Amino acid sequence: MEIKNFIGGRWADKQKLQTMPVMNPANGEQLGTVPLSTKVEVDEAVQQAKNAQKEWALTPAPKRADYLYEIAFKLKEKKEHLAQTLTREMGKVIEEARGEVQEGIDMALYMAAEGRRLFGETVPSELANKFAMSVRAPIGVVGLITPWNFPIAIATWKAFPALVAGNTFIWKPSNETPFMAYEMAKIFEEVGLPKGVANIVFGTGPTIGTAMVEHPDIRVISFTGSTSTGSKVAELGGRHLKKISLEMGGKNAVIVMEDADIELAVEGILWSAFGTAGQRCTACSRVIVHKDVKEVLQQKLLAATTTLTIGDGLDPATKVGPVINRAALEKINHYVQLGRQEGATLLTGGRILSEAPFDKGFYFEPTIFTDVHAEMIIAQEEIFGPVISIIEVADLDEAIEVNNSVKFGLSSSIFSQDVNTIFKAQARLDTGIVYVNAGTTGAEIHLPFGGTKGTGNGHRDSGQAALDVYTEWKSIYVDYSGKLQRAQIDT
Ligand code: NAD
Repeated sequence: MEIKNFIGGRWADKQKLQTMPVMNPANGEQLGTVPLSTKVEVDEAVQQAKNAQKEWALTPAPKRADYLYEIAFKLKEKKEHLAQTLTREMGKVIEEARGEVQEGIDMALYMAAEGRRLFGETVPSELANKFAMSVRAPIGVVGLITPWNFPIAIATWKAFPALVAGNTFIWKPSNETPFMAYEMAKIFEEVGLPKGVANIVFGTGPTIGTAMVEHPDIRVISFTGSTSTGSKVAELGGRHLKKISLEMGGKNAVIVMEDADIELAVEGILWSAFGTAGQRCTACSRVIVHKDVKEVLQQKLLAATTTLTIGDGLDPATKVGPVINRAALEKINHYVQLGRQEGATLLTGGRILSEAPFDKGFYFEPTIFTDVHAEMIIAQEEIFGPVISIIEVADLDEAIEVNNSVKFGLSSSIFSQDVNTIFKAQARLDTGIVYVNAGTTGAEIHLPFGGTKGTGNGHRDSGQAALDVYTEWKSIYVDYSGKLQRAQIDT
């Protein structure tokens, strides 16, 4: 199937662009092609978005929100089809794909409700007969750049707050996952979203992403992806004085204290580390364990890991699907070899699965390293695959120090039954998200999502915080005294 750009409410039918194939990572089947657009298509999309934005911004927010309700209903109606498509194009197991579509539905409903909120402030003025308030104003045309690992959820985290706030957008999805973007474009068309409000341009990051970041009429770039790409976006965007929101990589850890419920910790680690084959930004990549329970945790984790069924995510029995492509497979393998060289002990896994039935897809065995030191490369860099490193610590202070020793700051978790331990930890863990007695994944859409240090630059997706990315604060003073009143002077 040939994917097309969606610009100004129309599908680019006479597309003369080069294309690249889109593969199913589970079995190498070619699913279709995606166009490799150029700056020309970006310019055209921005023009359409700019034209549409004036009227969209003047449309009352509750009316803009009505479109989001309709989008939510469509997503709900198509949930199973979307989930199957998602699994086919990026490999995550079907249960997780359904969960991801649900996240999009939740976000649509949550942001639709913002149409009747979008709260500002009213405050007393320091002068008599004067009224003071602040309101959220739309920014204009915004650019959304998204990764392949959550091809629908992350787009909804960005597109829906942008829309309800009165912006129009250009979205550049990842080339690995154009089908979810294509499905979203169909929904935008089906609900009758005004032409030009939502535009989708497919192509490579260096070409399309750069053209968006440099475009003078795109005022905000909301990016999710790797820290190395995000740094480039920030650098280029900074030169153009853009507002740049970055959500980037992670090196997330689960801390298991001596009083933890070990069975629960094992379940939490397994789900966080090997769900989505370890390709979540919040995936557990390090297990920081108290020395008194290291042996027992390790044995239980090993036993549980070896029972995981690996395979095509469409098979409901599968627990670990493929990774996205060959380059990912090789990158994971590189880190595993590095771990061995660094002196970590390989407890299980460590292999690319190349025999039938895995030979046509990209499968890596769930892998556990133990006797890992916090400063080893495998314990510091994002691997983005089903690999965890077990690090032993003596006490809570050391656990927190190890957790905080990486350049990323997305999510962390602690398993303990002691309220004092838990509260001390949540205050000192330097990540944007902290879980207690749960793994490192499982964010809910009405709380801010994002991280500190190398994970982000201070902005957040999701929750009320997302609105800050797509709005400017406007302060309005209404003086009804009939005379000139000077603030700070005539008080
Ligand atoms: P990536 O950085 O390779 O690509 C992300 C997007 O940026 C893609 O659409 C890509 O085409 C585009 N891009 C590439 N080069 C560009 C450039 N020069 N200018 C502008 N855009 C460019 O990341 P990926 O492999 O798609 O995704 C995996 C990464 O995303 C991991 O590091 C993961 O941790 C991170 N991630 C972070 C979050 C979060 O919220 N913190 C969520 C999901 C994924």
